[in-house]
Amino acid sequence: MSTIAPVDTRRLLTAEPADSLPVLSLEALLALAEESGLTGRGGAGFPTAIKLRAVAEGGTAPVVVGNAMEGEPLSRKDAVLLTRAPHLVVEGLALVGRALRARETVLAIGPEINPAAAEAAARVGRVRVARLEGGFVAGQESALVNQLDGRPAVPRDPLVRITTKGVDGRPTLVLNAETLAQLALAARHGAAWFRLAGTEEDPGTSLFSISGAVERSGVVEAARGSRLRDVLAAAVPVDPVAVLVGGYHGAWLPASQLDTRLTARELRPWGAAVGAGVLYVLGRDLCPIRAAAAIATYLADESAAQCGPCVNGLPRMADALQRLADRVPDPGLPHEIDRMRLLVVGRGACAHPDGTARMVASTMRVFEDHVTRHLAGHCEIEGARR
Ligand code: SF4
Repeated sequence: MSTIAPVDTRRLLTAEPADSLPVLSLEALLALAEESGLTGRGGAGFPTAIKLRAVAEGGTAPVVVGNAMEGEPLSRKDAVLLTRAPHLVVEGLALVGRALRARETVLAIGPEINPAAAEAAARVGRVRVARLEGGFVAGQESALVNQLDGRPAVPRDPLVRITTKGVDGRPTLVLNAETLAQLALAARHGAAWFRLAGTEEDPGTSLFSISGAVERSGVVEAARGSRLRDVLAAAVPVDPVAVLVGGYHGAWLPASQLDTRLTARELRPWGAAVGAGVLYVLGRDLCPIRAAAAIATYLADESAAQCGPCVNGLPRMADALQRLADRVPDPGLPHEIDRMRLLVVGRGACAHPDGTARMVASTMRVFEDHVTRHLAGHCEIEGARR
């Protein structure tokens, strides 16, 4: 892997509005997306060029949607971006909408997003702002399409791709708000400029939402592939024990691993991925099993309850983890948690069960010592069982 170039990575939150909206032909936009190596900043990290091409080849005027639903409770990046530089998101939407000759261009915002700033910027770009209901799975692409079609915000049948049949039955392209802002900057400055930051395999910058045991929680921008320690530095971590990388669907890295680079290759052994750039620092005053049980319970409650793994598996997995957090003297709890994990993985209509299982499995592995002590009725943070 190449080293990170020493360039200024404060790109998104300091950008001024452009004098005029950028215009690119479809061919030029596809070339820009390909040459810049831009990947989605919403979680899945899919190459933007491939998504663009899939909709461009649909043959019908598509609908283009900017996704600023930000359903992940620990994420603030879309909210900050749409307050500090909403014009960039609108520029990106206008750029894509014009190149694809879209029927409609929509910016979908969740309840945590400042509507005034988004609406003011959207007027310039002739983008419609849709204020939608929130929730953890509401930002999932097909759930978003459902809401825009006036239906409940639950994921659709994954066999019917929204790039073929989405909003109003039209091919639909959904790009995260930050992805659109990154695309707008790449259009202004070129693919070579975009690649000055980050690594050869994973160029550019990302916004990171940092919270937990830190002196200053907030959103920072850093080059892709930066060391975890360097990204966290601006937030000033306070005696960290571990970092949850990737948010509620993410995985833990112990504090001994702060020199890990935030790349797919270095995060993979931990089961983690950069995802939407969420970093939660666990301090010494919070029991990791209790913290993970609270997240698992939240995720079980947030499912759309339309598939077996979410209806049956996630609540039982969360309940077993909660019992472990409460130091119930049942040596079968780790086995029950693992059994539920294996039952839900790969069985849902969306990635919600897999993401929840990933976080739980990571908890059991990284905090193995805590699991052992809890089974013996003791917790080094909460003390002996009452
Ligand atoms: S897996 Fe869960 S969250 Fe996803 S569609 Fe099915 S019930 Fe809904």
